[in-house]
Amino acid sequence: MISDESLERYSRQIAVPGFDFDGQQALTQASVLLVGCGGLGCPTALYLAAAGVGTLRLVDDDCVALSNLPRQIAYPESALGSSKVIALKSEIAARNSSVIVDAVVTRFDDSSADQLLGDIDVVVDASDSWDTRSAIDRHTARLGLPWVMGGAVQMSGQNMVFDAQRKYGCYHCLAPEPDNALGSCAQLGILGPVVGAVAMTQTLDTLKLLTGCATPAFGVLRVRDFRVDDAAELALSHRADCPVCGQSSHT
Ligand SMILES: [Zn+2]
Repeated sequence: MISDESLERYSRQIAVPGFDFDGQQALTQASVLLVGCGGLGCPTALYLAAAGVGTLRLVDDDCVALSNLPRQIAYPESALGSSKVIALKSEIAARNSSVIVDAVVTRFDDSSADQLLGDIDVVVDASDSWDTRSAIDRHTARLGLPWVMGGAVQMSGQNMVFDAQRKYGCYHCLAPEPDNALGSCAQLGILGPVVGAVAMTQTLDTLKLLTGCATPAFGVLRVRDFRVDDAAELALSHRADCPVCGQSSHT
């Protein structure tokens, strides 16, 4: 049952058709793993917490730096030099004390995956790293979990959602190998609102997965060029020889 206080607090989202009391109840009972607490992770964490997600597990091994502040909007100047997950946990607690926050100072990789994925319903990739996405894809495919991808550089962004059973293909179908031609945000630059827009799409995709208020765009890579306000959708091709979701992986 939802308490009177929660009913008042979440009344506007409960009023959205398809979200309803059941959506709020599902959200309250849900656990989300957020891999990365930078430009994508900060707004995603704040919005999921504000919406009343039950548990947020935050993963990052980095500390807050001065060059993070224009886009990693959860961090005040007083957090400079602090662990990102610890600082973000404190910011979430000030906003919604009912959210359980599990702050883990580590990286998501093959050695940490099993422990980090325990009791998790949805994984949000906020890492901006092929290696990390590859690990998220492989381990969530093995465990039958959906995950939400986002990426941003300069004035462009990408979003994609992978379903639990990989009926629409997986990240390895999309990007079988790292693309070394792509640079990082540190090298190429990034605008805060661009990464914020991508993070909001990730947050919305996560709410759709957890509450069933709408169906996420499975199997579709959404690409946005904010310099000219252009958007494109690319259907993912399911690769039969994919090592993660192809026929050979099910033998
Ligand atoms: Zn695949």
